[in-house]
Amino acid sequence: MKEKLFILLLILPASLFAQKGASTENIFIITLDGLRWQELFYGADSLLVDDSGYVEEPEKLVGEFWHSDYKVRREKLMPFFWNTIARQGQLHGNRKYDSKVDCTNKMWFSYPGYNEILCGFADDERINSNDKKLNPNVTVLEYLNKRKEYAGKVSAFGSWDVFPFIINEERSGIPVNAGFEKAEKDLTERERFLNKIQDEIRGPWGGVRLDVFTHHYAMEDLKKNKPRVLYIAYGETDDFAHDGEYDQYLRSARQTDAYIQELWDFAQSEEQYKGKTTFIITTDHGRGTKPKETWKHHGTSIHNAGQIWVAVIGPDTPAMGEVRQSGQYYLNQVAKTAAAFLGEDYSGQKQAGEVMSSMFK
Ligand SMILES: [Zn+2]
Repeated sequence: MKEKLFILLLILPASLFAQKGASTENIFIITLDGLRWQELFYGADSLLVDDSGYVEEPEKLVGEFWHSDYKVRREKLMPFFWNTIARQGQLHGNRKYDSKVDCTNKMWFSYPGYNEILCGFADDERINSNDKKLNPNVTVLEYLNKRKEYAGKVSAFGSWDVFPFIINEERSGIPVNAGFEKAEKDLTERERFLNKIQDEIRGPWGGVRLDVFTHHYAMEDLKKNKPRVLYIAYGETDDFAHDGEYDQYLRSARQTDAYIQELWDFAQSEEQYKGKTTFIITTDHGRGTKPKETWKHHGTSIHNAGQIWVAVIGPDTPAMGEVRQSGQYYLNQVAKTAAAFLGEDYSGQKQAGEVMSSMFK
């Protein structure tokens, strides 16, 4: 009798939490660095799409991305978001309907944003630069990796070389492939090829690789190691924006949308993932709108650069589509929400923002 009671007590709390995300067994957190909500919900910006100051071949870009109807325009830019997530999942952050998502950190740049996403709280005292400093805070990835069910089944990929510090690779024990790092151990043929061409195709930036490498390294890991918790941080959108290349910013957004589609399609074709995987997709910060050249920038001095968006799709999420009602979510709610989908309680991190309740049936 005593043994039975003991077993019951062990099972009970887990099953209570499990009601949160009844079907989700795997969680993918995906970020697009500094992609504005304005492009996500309204497509190419009329002020920028044909501005030769920001665009190399305006006519060509207009042909690719412009349409007078914003619904067509946004679908040209991000077809997976508008054909699939908008039908099966949720998109929060269209401020024209008063659906708001904001950073709680006041920095409005990357490390503070990713700390907030992954840890569930802002830490403006300590996380106030993009320097390669080991994160003193524990991410939800690390929290899960320390639990028996997920140990060794958490992977992270990023284009920016600061992610090993944000995720605190050594302390967390999570393999983080970021910057220009190569795949290691039991290499597939594709990984060997990626390792080779990553040396050959350096891309325009010092600390950020092109997303094609981040994506395909992640795909290989997905096939090979079948992680239950996967984090992918795409970076190009932000870097092309800083460079003032609006054409490349749009093309990167469209390509990243296609990458997320590829991840989703792969998940639907695999026993471990099909009908059991939730994607939470967001960004670390917004960018400026007025004056128009501030689209290139973000940070405290850029008006409204803390305005962001969040999308979700998975078996436990009601298909609300584009949310057209008043509401407020914050970036600090992502971590606890991600854990809740897995039936895990993240309230040990006391400062963490609450679960985004509309995302659960
Ligand atoms: Zn930036």
